[in-house]
Amino acid sequence: MKKHKVIEVRNLSASTFVVRFERKEIDFQTGQFVMVGTKGAVDRREYSIYSGETDNFLEILVRKVEGGKVSAKLKKLKPGDTVDADGPFGFFKFDPTTFQSQKFLFVATGTGISPFHSFVKSYPDLNYQLIHGVRFVEEAYDHADYAKEKVTLCTSGEPKGDFTGRVTDHLRELEIDADTNCFLCGNSEMIYEVFDILGEKGVPTSNIYSEVYF
Ligand SMILES: Cc1cc2nc3c(=O)[nH]c(=O)nc-3n(C[C@H](O)[C@H](O)[C@H](O)COP(=O)(O)OP(=O)(O)OC[C@H]3O[C@@H](n4cnc5c(N)ncnc54)[C@H](O)[C@@H]3O)c2cc1C
Repeated sequence: MKKHKVIEVRNLSASTFVVRFERKEIDFQTGQFVMVGTKGAVDRREYSIYSGETDNFLEILVRKVEGGKVSAKLKKLKPGDTVDADGPFGFFKFDPTTFQSQKFLFVATGTGISPFHSFVKSYPDLNYQLIHGVRFVEEAYDHADYAKEKVTLCTSGEPKGDFTGRVTDHLRELEIDADTNCFLCGNSEMIYEVFDILGEKGVPTSNIYSEVYF
């Protein structure tokens, strides 16, 4: 485990923020996560890497969870502080050259958009569609970083996104080619439901990859 100096903390909403810290020798493939905690703390948690593969820093996108131990401490970080970070870990990684079909569907809830941000920063020209589910439009984290025609914001708490309702409601209305590579990231309830919907649409489970946050 290495100590990494915090370079910047950028608030995206009242509860969600991006922490940028020194990369040091962490060499990752987009989609992977790091274990992060505040300096010397026993507790650390998994955070998907938000930054691109060639950036000379690392970023994570964190939501301060109500009553959460680690996320609340990360929320208090300031530039010049230190975090303990270790990694990379995980098999939710995507090197686009390894996929036969070059069609990608990303489905995220909340901060589950993080690995897709890394993906799009690393490989901006890919043929992808991102469906992001949140409650309120203020949770459209850094949507300006994605090509406008490639993102659908689904808002379940107010009628202000591209689609009003859950990502699952939107997906049910879509036609999805069976050879699409589907990546799902966020809460387990969404992931189970999307698995079923994609199955009904003829996408084989071998084309579905998922990362469960909680
Ligand atoms: C592979 C992986 C990657 C992850 N990547 C990210 C990421 O990029 N950004 C991010 O913010 N979190 C991410 N998480 C969740 C993160 O690891 C922590 O669980 C989260 O920050 C809460 O930790 P805590 O110590 O503050 O809360 P704890 O004290 O551990 O737990 C508080 C409660 O909050 C629940 N909880 C955990 N995460 C959430 C959430 N996002 N929304 C609502 N409730 C939640 C837990 O189930 C628990 O019941 C990831 C988890 C995994 C397994």
